[in-house]
Amino acid sequence: MKNMIVLCVSFLTLQAYEYHLKPVELAKDVYCFFGAPENISKENGGNMVNTCFVQTKEGFVVIDSGPTFSYASQAYNEMQKIAKLPVKYVINTHDHDDHWLGNNFYKSKGALLIGPRTYEQNVVTGMETRMQRALGKAIYGKTKIVELDTIVDSNLTLKVSDKTFEIKQMVDKAHTEGDLIVYMASEQIVFAGDVVFNDRLSSLRDGSIIGSLKALDLIDDLHAKVIVGGHGYATDANATQGFKSYLSKMKKQILEALENDVGIDEITKHVVMLEYKDMKLYDVLHSRNVFEAFRELEMYEEESTEEQGIEYIDFTKALKKQKKKIRLL
Ligand SMILES: [Zn+2]
Repeated sequence: MKNMIVLCVSFLTLQAYEYHLKPVELAKDVYCFFGAPENISKENGGNMVNTCFVQTKEGFVVIDSGPTFSYASQAYNEMQKIAKLPVKYVINTHDHDDHWLGNNFYKSKGALLIGPRTYEQNVVTGMETRMQRALGKAIYGKTKIVELDTIVDSNLTLKVSDKTFEIKQMVDKAHTEGDLIVYMASEQIVFAGDVVFNDRLSSLRDGSIIGSLKALDLIDDLHAKVIVGGHGYATDANATQGFKSYLSKMKKQILEALENDVGIDEITKHVVMLEYKDMKLYDVLHSRNVFEAFRELEMYEEESTEEQGIEYIDFTKALKKQKKKIRLL
């Protein structure tokens, strides 16, 4: 009996984590898997991220490969139920590991990996990842870091039979130093990576509040019908608005606090933004975001007091004027 239990337990630990991935069709030939709007945990297996795939006549193009080898392998099985086609390319939107740790699965299937310069700079083969620490060996399984085949330095247009993918690099640091977005003009779809968040707060730890607002404006200027963020379920033309509004309000309140000589020790008590307190991850991320934004904005000079009251829709104009004055720490 005891041996049976030991056998059952070891059998269970050998089983891959079951992600129960279900693709959602957002337009003809365009599908995404939506992760839970929460932090990484053993319970969710790192499935707190959105990944997408587009079917072309030649094969699939994947946008972000997800948190583990087995996530990517299960995503691939779902794709094969739609069409028995290979995965030709995987585009990584940025260097945070919830978005690309499925790369080695796709590489083993012959896909070409495309990603930002920051992947090459920050991702070192053999290093321990945040996901590895959080998930442990059993869920992390066969996940391995692999090198990219193509680095996108500015913009790249990828034509795969009947579909065109415009891969655009954000000019300034936004969510990270090297965010890529993928735009399909004829389908009016943008895969925005973590430049767009919904249904939970984002983290400014590697990013910039000014750059994020600017990138959100650039995405809105594309007038896409479908905007898929790296996290959260909203995908309509207004999917940028919630995050834009959060950052705009934070910017305004921090600048006001700076005018009133509020220091870094006090800032998180002044910019609480209680209207967001029920948003997922508010408790974990909000104060830290305020702190990071404060450090950036104390180096930022508004051109005139008139602009203090400007809402986010006017920021593009304001930022153009102020571009030279923006300095980041
Ligand atoms: Zn992410």
